[in-house]
Formats: sequence, C-alpha cells, structure tokens
Amino acid sequence: MSCVSTRGDATVAFGDAILEGLAPDGGLYVPAKSIPFDVDATAGASYAGLARTILSRWVEPDLLDFESLYSFGAPIVELSGRGWTGIKILELFHGPTNSFKDYGARFLGPALGIALEARRRTGLVLVATSGDTGSAVADAMSDVPGLRVVLLFPHGKVSAVQERQLTARRPGVRAVAVEGTFDDCQRLVKEAFGTAAVPGLTSANSINIGRLLPQQVYYAWAAVHCDQPIDVVVPSGNLGNLAAGFLARMSGVPIGRFVAAHNRNDWFVRYLRGDRPVAVGSVQTLSNAMDVGAPSNFERLQYWCQGKALADLVTGYSISDDETCDVMRTLHQETGYLADPHTAVGLAAARRFRKESGSSLPTFVLATAHPAKFQDIVERATGVSPAIPPSLSAIDQTDYRLIGAELDSVLDIVREEHALLPSLD
Ligand SMILES: *Cc1c(COP(=O)(O)O)cnc(C)c1O
Repeated sequence: MSCVSTRGDATVAFGDAILEGLAPDGGLYVPAKSIPFDVDATAGASYAGLARTILSRWVEPDLLDFESLYSFGAPIVELSGRGWTGIKILELFHGPTNSFKDYGARFLGPALGIALEARRRTGLVLVATSGDTGSAVADAMSDVPGLRVVLLFPHGKVSAVQERQLTARRPGVRAVAVEGTFDDCQRLVKEAFGTAAVPGLTSANSINIGRLLPQQVYYAWAAVHCDQPIDVVVPSGNLGNLAAGFLARMSGVPIGRFVAAHNRNDWFVRYLRGDRPVAVGSVQTLSNAMDVGAPSNFERLQYWCQGKALADLVTGYSISDDETCDVMRTLHQETGYLADPHTAVGLAAARRFRKESGSSLPTFVLATAHPAKFQDIVERATGVSPAIPPSLSAIDQTDYRLIGAELDSVLDIVREEHALLPSLD
C-alpha cells in the first residue's frame, strides 16, 4: 500500500511516508486508496486479531507480534442510570503509558524499524511533547533496532505522573527538559528539521500517517461489538484521533456521526458552525493534551470531506473547565465511574449530542487517558483519588537533561545521540 500527499498526486511507499513524516510539498500523507473492511467477517476476533487484519495491508504481518503489541485490548464499559443510558465508554488507557497514544506509537515504532532495515539505514526520532505522546513514543521505540529517540518536554509544565513517565530510564531514549513552553519545544523541533546539520531525522507526532493507521482498529472494535451503527465522541486537540475515525469509516466501519469534543480551544467547533475562525495561540485548560490552537490534522479531514459534508458528518462542542469538573463529579456520584478530564470533555459533549440530535444509535465515548495521570484534578472534582495502575508505579529510575530553549543546545544533543547509532558497514 502506498500514500499520497494532501497537496499532490505522487504516490510514495508507506515506509518512506513514515520516515519522512511530512511530505516534501508541505502536505500530510494519506492512504492512496481506502481498503474495504468487512465487520461481519471479523466477529469473534480478538483485538490483536482485528489489528492484524487491518494493519497487514501496510506491514508484512509476520514481522509483527500483534498479540504482544496490543495485549491490553480496548475494554468497553456500558454506563447506565439517569442521563447516562446509551453511552458506552471505550477505554483506551490500558497500554503501557496509560493514554490512547500507545496504540499509534506501538505500531509506528516497529514499522519504522522495518522501513529502516529495508533501506539499510538508521534513524533518530526527535519529538516535542506536552505530556502523553513523549512517553508513548519512548516506551514503544526504546528497543527498536537502528533507532534512537530524543524527546523534548517543557520543564515544570507537565503533571508529576507525566514527568515520571517521560523521564523513565530507557535504553536508546534521551529525555530533555526545555526551559520554556510546549510551543518552544515544538519550534525547536521544527528548526532542527529545517537545518541540514543532522541527517536521518524522523518525527513521531500525529502528522505521521503511521500513527493514525493503527488507531482505526479501536473504531472497528467498537463497531464489531454492536449490532447497529454507532456514533463516536472523540476528545480532540490536533484532530489525529478523529482523522483515524474517518479512515475507519471510509473503509466501511459502520459509524453514523462523529462528535468532536473540544475544550475552550474551539477553532474546529467554530469552523463547523460556519465561521471562518482565525488560528490563535492555545489557552491552558484542565484537559491540557487538547490545548491546541490550530489543529494540524484539519488538512486531512478537509482533503476527505469539505464544507457542508464535513459539518453533516461531525458535530462539534466546546466544553468549559467548569462543565468538565461538573461531569466528573456527577458521573462519579451517579455511576461510580472515574473519568480523566479529557474523557470528561467527551462525556459532556456526548450528553449534549444525545439531547440535541435525537440519535438513537449507541454513543461511544473514547476514553483517552487513565484518571490516575491527572490525579489532582480528578480528586478536586470528585473527592476521590484514582488508584495508580501498576505500569505507573513500576517506574523507579528517572533521568533527564535540562537545557535552555536554544537550537544549538538541541543540535548538540541530537549529534551526540546520532553518534551512538550503530554503524551499518
Ligand atoms: C493527544 C490527546 C488528545 C487529543 O488527541 P488528538 O489526536 O490530538 O485530537 C486527547 N486526550 C488525550 C489524553 C491525549 O493525550
């Protein structure tokens, strides 16, 4: 299977698309054609089996051990009582770093390894993170042969649990705290890619098509477990998760409507309403992984579906921090369920959507992070402190370098790590 850019027609091999990240014309890679998926034919399959069926079109399946990549599956929790009946939660936080970012990173890592080996090359992944992406990428790529990882995070601006996860000592991974904001980290990564000083740099953020493909699998998983089409609520920031939902729907997964659940960073919500919003800087909220001013995957959504057609398929809601906390509290009081703030934004949007749309289809809310990753916020909203899962308590050794927000410091580290890559001669 090959990919094309959203801005051109030339096809490239999947391996090149994931190594390059961004297309040379500045566009984002998308699959050259959608591949039909037959839900009925997969009834009874395990999550790993479903992943194998969907992803074997992209990577020779015998090269990957899907059972170990996706052993944690994607549990479905059905809510009931008061205003919650009809809402199902798809828990995407049981992977090794407890956010849905694990699904993408755990496929992209080995896929990069396979692409590098076929080209007799080595590679260095440079990634900026505001929290969940960095640890998922570090965990998934630490032992991929021929690959090293440098991750930049803003010093003192991630949650305590996130910092522990980001700085956990892992072979082949260098965690770097930057004296600055997430925007500084992103700018430094962009600048590093713009210099010719280091060859073979690869990105691992959600512009990489290799992260979106495996995220289709849990949409199919949810649909396989219902005997009618489903509506899906996606807590959204950069719109990567929603783009993966579009891929699933285009290959035949029976999805009625999508709901894009945003926090106060509501650029896409206003776009869907028919405004022509200008991109502004992000504002800080309780659901910090969704604090995105200008969502980069919008270009993919628009490539597939424009104007009114997009608004007919996706309903957008913007949820305030107050409403997010209200939902966390009432959900816990009425059902006993603890949601993290990102999932709570989704749940608030789900309730509004069910009231306003009158849809009678089951509503799936994607639960994007484990509540224990945001312990303080969850405890403040509900009075209950979520139990720490074993993967979080298992980290005992941490390590990171602290640098100023300067390109030269980043390039020094990148060069050092580059020198540690194995020679292929
Ligand atoms: C990254 C992230 C999101 C936003 O996902 P996008 O693909 O950027 O829209 C939502 N919730 C959590 C917990 C995340 O880490």
